[in-house]
Amino acid sequence: MANVSIDHVTKSYGALHVMHGVSLDIEDGEFIIRVGPSGCGKSTLLRMVAGLEEITTGTVSIGDKVVNDARPKDRNIAMVFQSYALYPHKTVAQNMGFALMLAGRPQKEIDDRVGAAAEILDLVPLLERLPKQLSGGQRQRVAMGRAIVRDPEVFLFDEPLSNLDAKLRVQMRTEIKALHQRLKTTTIYVTHDQVEAMTMADRIVIMNGGKIEQVGKPLDLYDNPNSLFVAGFLGSPS
Ligand code: ADP
Ligand code: MG
Repeated sequence: MANVSIDHVTKSYGALHVMHGVSLDIEDGEFIIRVGPSGCGKSTLLRMVAGLEEITTGTVSIGDKVVNDARPKDRNIAMVFQSYALYPHKTVAQNMGFALMLAGRPQKEIDDRVGAAAEILDLVPLLERLPKQLSGGQRQRVAMGRAIVRDPEVFLFDEPLSNLDAKLRVQMRTEIKALHQRLKTTTIYVTHDQVEAMTMADRIVIMNGGKIEQVGKPLDLYDNPNSLFVAGFLGSPS
C-alpha cells in the first residue's frame, strides 16, 4: 500500500493544454473517485499516474518516491480498463498469471497467487475456462484478478463498468467495494457516473476542463457544493 501525491501536474499535447495544475494527496488505503464530464482529463491523469503518459510539468509520487521517470512496470500499480481485453486462447488461470509469468516468477508462486486471487473473486470453479465461456461480469472479475495477483500498491480503474448492463453494474460496484474493504489497496477510480461516485468513494474529486473543481466526502459535496457546476453534476438540491 502507499499514498499517492499529485503535485501541480499539467499536461499539454503540443499546443493543446488539457490539464492545468492539478494537485491531490491520496491517503494510503483510500478509495478516491475522480468524476467529471467526458473530455475533462480523467483518463489522462490516470495514465500519467500509471506512467503511460508523460507528465508535462509537476510531479507524481507513489509512497515517498517521485515516479515521473519510472517506467510503468517499475511502478507498483495495476490498472483495470473498461475494455479488459483478455487473451482469448488462454484460460482464466493463464490470463490471471500471465504478467507473473512474463516477470519470470516460478510456476508454484504463480499458481499460489492465482489461487488466492481466485478465492477472493469467487473464480475458483472457472479457472480452466476460456474467456468466451464467461459472462460479462465474470470477465470483469478476471480482469480484476489479473490486477490483484500482482499485489500492487495502487489500483487504477478507468471506467471499469461502462460496458456492463445496469444490473451488473450495481452488482460489480458492491464487489469492487468489498474487494477494497478486504485488501485496503489505495485506489483511484475514474468514472463519469455520479451514482458510482456517490455510492463507492471515500472522497470524490470533481474535475472539469482539466482542473479540480472540488474534493470532499460524497455527502459533504452533495450538501455543500461550492459551484453551480458541482451542484449540477451531483444533482444537489438548489
Ligand atoms: P476523459 O477521460 O475525462 O474523458 P481524457 O483524459 O481522455 O478525458 O482527455 C482529456 C483531453 O485531452 C480531451 O480534450 C482529449 O481530446 C485530449 N487528449 C487525450 N489524449 C490525447 C492525445 N493523445 N492527443 C491529443 N489530445 C488528447
Ligand atoms: Mg476517459
